[in-house]
Amino acid sequence: MNTRVSCLLAAWSLALTLPLPAQAVWVDREEAIMGTRVFVQLWADGPDQGDAACAAVMADMRRIDNLMSHYKPESQLSQINARANTEPVQVDKELFDLIKLSTHYSQITEGAFDITYASVGYLYNYPAHIRPTEAQIKAALPAVNWRNMLFDEAHHTIRFEHPGMRIDLGGIGKGYAVDRGIDILKARGIRHALVTAGGDSRFIGDHMGRPWLAAIANPDDPHNPIKVVTRIPLADAAVSTSGDYERYFDENGVRYHHIIDPHTGHSASKVRSATIIGPTATQTDGMSKTAFVLGPERAMEIINRMPEYDAVFVTPDGRLLYSNGLRPARPRPAGAPPAAADPRVSPPTPIVTSPRAQP
Ligand code: ADP
Ligand code: MG
Repeated sequence: MNTRVSCLLAAWSLALTLPLPAQAVWVDREEAIMGTRVFVQLWADGPDQGDAACAAVMADMRRIDNLMSHYKPESQLSQINARANTEPVQVDKELFDLIKLSTHYSQITEGAFDITYASVGYLYNYPAHIRPTEAQIKAALPAVNWRNMLFDEAHHTIRFEHPGMRIDLGGIGKGYAVDRGIDILKARGIRHALVTAGGDSRFIGDHMGRPWLAAIANPDDPHNPIKVVTRIPLADAAVSTSGDYERYFDENGVRYHHIIDPHTGHSASKVRSATIIGPTATQTDGMSKTAFVLGPERAMEIINRMPEYDAVFVTPDGRLLYSNGLRPARPRPAGAPPAAADPRVSPPTPIVTSPRAQP
């Protein structure tokens, strides 16, 4: 055997014995957690790294659910609801901080976002088509007021100042969980990813050199990807959509759905859907209920005052309202030269951000 051949053979046998370099791949995983669909998609150095990252996000979502679910009697949130009417209840700093943070959104939304809505919200059962009577709403409504939560920073305790109060983090907990998932992925060096929980999503980086596309569902046909009302390109951003078509029942032409006006105790129906775009999913989740309660005009004024947010609302008569940062370009005037061709060969995969709650 000449030297050249033996060198080649040596290189060949080395290649057989050494592990091949890892192959970067897109990895995704979907699970049912927090009563909704959780979806993670990411670009990883290899399938094992990708699977481990997805598993870590899912595990943290389950941890957060165990801490904050009002469906689980053993959760710390349920402990607050059981006892804070009579005594201060101590909870983990993480839960304390999120409940405290929720009052920030109550403040900037003029009380439209209020986790004490649950004092009347618990009287609704959408799958069972149960709603409270006017007398029941009237009796429960005085307990709805975020200002009646008392916080002790030193001891992380929460106490309710009004009898009959309850809280529910369904309007901000999924956004919070998405942000924690993104933190986990970033700490593992992931630079392109999507984490979604229900109507709340956040993106790291772009999607193969192109923006991710957040599609806004059509409220009249919310699970049909062909019927989306618009698609918004996004990178390094969060988006939340709230819709009146997720948890609801119709009775005598009236839709009873899961977003409650804290001032009236009734379903808030001033828009059909509200999509908020911003830096983090906690922020976008906290803001996505506002237009239902305050109405699209007032909510848009608030959004347009805060440069970190954008919004798209679908009104009851089917109009699309955009915040100033998103207004679509005006139609090209007649006789204008043709626009430059879009160099992209095919559009990125649309991501439907409409929440897909489980029955
Ligand atoms: P998703 O749960 O799919 O993220 P939303 O972000 O639209 O949907 O949140 C809806 C949830 O918000 C309701 O199911 C309820 O738990 C909670 N909620 C309803 N009304 C209010 C309100 N006025 N303020 C705060 N939270 C609310
Ligand atoms: Mg949400």
